[in-house]
Amino acid sequence: MQKSLLLLTGCLALLGGVSAQAATKNPTPANKYRYAAKKAAYYNKSTSTYYRSIWTTARKTWNASKAFTWSTTTNKKSRSFTTTVAKNTGIWTNATGMAYNGMSFDQNGNQTGAAMYLNRSVLKKFRYTKKQRTNVAIHEMGHALGLKHNNKGSVSVMNPSNRVHGLRNVDIRGAKKVYATPASTSKALASAAKPSLTVDHLKDYSNNITGVEQLVHDAGTIVEGTITKSVPHHRAPKNYYTTQTIRIADKFKGQTGQTLTFTQGGTPAMAVTDSVVLHPGETVVVMLGRHANGQYYAINDGQGLFLDTHTNNGHELFEHVSDHVLYTEEMLH
Ligand SMILES: [Zn+2]
Repeated sequence: MQKSLLLLTGCLALLGGVSAQAATKNPTPANKYRYAAKKAAYYNKSTSTYYRSIWTTARKTWNASKAFTWSTTTNKKSRSFTTTVAKNTGIWTNATGMAYNGMSFDQNGNQTGAAMYLNRSVLKKFRYTKKQRTNVAIHEMGHALGLKHNNKGSVSVMNPSNRVHGLRNVDIRGAKKVYATPASTSKALASAAKPSLTVDHLKDYSNNITGVEQLVHDAGTIVEGTITKSVPHHRAPKNYYTTQTIRIADKFKGQTGQTLTFTQGGTPAMAVTDSVVLHPGETVVVMLGRHANGQYYAINDGQGLFLDTHTNNGHELFEHVSDHVLYTEEMLH
């Protein structure tokens, strides 16, 4: 409780937030992408019968809602496609799925391609049922057609760490709203059209104080220090991350040397939703997990990264990279 009070005195204005229950009644919010019309064809790259049927059920679920119509194409070069990977490193760490909006655009800036991924490795490791995997597939199709995350805790297929919810009315209304307005005919939008990845993790920590407490609990290593080296790896979306080296000033959790290297998602060239790439010279608090091979990674991408901003009333304030909320250093360990 003391920690909460400290935060409230420091940055009351930044702690807004709509309650999850209230938000669930509103249509699921839109991202900045849409197809020209409320339909799109995709190529199903999955080779296994099991995963092909998961994508098929997800497609039929969306189609039954009348909000959007997905069809399949046999064109292997289609810029819209569904597929699976089996990875648990780099950007894929603890990721159940991913959507890659804006694979391609028409001359007016409307999306013509979006890629949808399921991560077999994580779904298997955490024993998702076929129905739950289908819910993740419906979620990725939701991003692809123009929806962003609903609030944490929301009863919505676009819940940020959705596993149990199927397509709900809020999602259908959200999708209908995206396509209730005519498509863009402005060429000005085309030049601003940039691709974006949304990575879906097992857990969502972006919920202010309780989320941070959970991060502190889950992180094996928490250190404060200065970024000394930042190396991007540009091979989206399979191997898309940045290697960061930090010179450590304070160790809050876990045993480390004076420097360590960890991976985070996102680069200056492409945004990973909820993340901002760190730069040399920045002072940060990072919450890390560790792979079996000893490699460190930022927990849930941007959700484990905090940027030193300024001092207020004798407290050093850190900005949560994923949602820009400020925390005192004491709250991060
Ligand atoms: Zn998502």
